[in-house]
Amino acid sequence: MSRMLLSRCAAIATMDDARTEVVGGSILVEDGAIAWLGAGDPPAGLADGADVVDASGCVAIPGLINTHHHLYQVLTRVRAQQDGLFGWLTELYPVWAGLDAEWVGAAAGAGLAELALSGCSTSTDHHYVFPAGRGDLLGAEIQAARELGIRFHPTRGSMDLGASQGGLPPDVVTQDPDTVLAETEQAIATFHDPSPGAMVRIAVAPCSPFSASERLMRESVALARRLGVRLHTHIAETSDEEAFCLERFGCRPVELLDRMGFLGDDVWLAHAVHLSAPDITRLAATHTAVAHCPTSNMRLGSGTALVRELVDAGVPVGLGVDGSASNDGAHLLGEVRQAMLVARGRGGPAAMTAREALWLGTRGGAACLGRDDVGSLEPGKRADIALFDVTGIATAGIEADPVAGIVLAWPQPVHHLVVEGRFVVRDGALANVPEADVAGRAHRVARQIVEGHRATGTAAPAAGGL
Ligand SMILES: [Zn+2]
Repeated sequence: MSRMLLSRCAAIATMDDARTEVVGGSILVEDGAIAWLGAGDPPAGLADGADVVDASGCVAIPGLINTHHHLYQVLTRVRAQQDGLFGWLTELYPVWAGLDAEWVGAAAGAGLAELALSGCSTSTDHHYVFPAGRGDLLGAEIQAARELGIRFHPTRGSMDLGASQGGLPPDVVTQDPDTVLAETEQAIATFHDPSPGAMVRIAVAPCSPFSASERLMRESVALARRLGVRLHTHIAETSDEEAFCLERFGCRPVELLDRMGFLGDDVWLAHAVHLSAPDITRLAATHTAVAHCPTSNMRLGSGTALVRELVDAGVPVGLGVDGSASNDGAHLLGEVRQAMLVARGRGGPAAMTAREALWLGTRGGAACLGRDDVGSLEPGKRADIALFDVTGIATAGIEADPVAGIVLAWPQPVHHLVVEGRFVVRDGALANVPEADVAGRAHRVARQIVEGHRATGTAAPAAGGL
């Protein structure tokens, strides 16, 4: 039996249903799960033989949960700097057409490490670019997550509407629906673990109703429900998308998903920025969750999601950093702060508290990914714990409220990150992989991309379709 005692934290924000907080409390971890949590030390004998970690300068929160990402984009940051979504996609698709397993592995290694260093213990990835003959792309990113020690929910994404069919992506990054569905089922059989405490789960994620055909969207829904895995896609990200949807399909984006059976308590949707009041009511009625990506929405000038209205309507809302080509950094505690500030910019100072933003990054994220075993610190839950040092310069003066302080002050890197009872970050450094190797590999492949040494895609299509 392995035991670890995180001793005498400055504060613990449990994010349990009662939103319990403990000052000067400790957390006992046993075989990957939380065995005891409370003020002071555990009862005599309970922590015998434990590896004792002094946490007296740290605020402990549940490991943060990232609900939307495109890890391969880590190697294509800072592109299309002044473009909105469609112009940005048009510039980047031909670059992404050069993607292979080495690119994906290097990008996932760096991207997941970047997240871990910001306090993220569980991340998803929406990977939907599968050029033929480029190796096991999903396997490459799962290997990176295993080496790092983070909990990982990659999705098997897809696109089948290429330029030759009026779509936006070049044909080389699309696949026919039969291949998509067969490879998705194979990925689930190979990697998906439905058991409690699972480190890897797969979801089904056609890219969007504008790059995936109606047949692929509907059959993805059927496949996911037959196999008992979750569904994910992009929706209502921009006003262009809304106008296109009304013109082409005669309905709003959320209504289009509804027609396809793509709403429900097994679905989480990225963005959901441009919603009508009936859209919000429908998402709530179907218990569909939303991945809110505030920085990405601002980087692309897409708009501001109606998070206050979604939360008040009962829609589960988690946070996502989104791909690193539309949010050139991936600091998940920073995204918590960003969500709070964006909500206040739109709705005034009472629109979102620091603790509500933390809830989105923990419990909201767990709801998006369908996990009831992570997202809060309670006996019986998995031991996914982020500890932020509050003794440094940037946190001087947060003593009056250290829990809110880690959100209101400038976001700091995590000090310790524990996932499934094991260190992923210890004393501010990656515990299981050499940081210099991860960074070196990512920079080497990124240089090859810039210098044009990777496979090249076809030219971008002329304007006229999505
Ligand atoms: Zn996205």
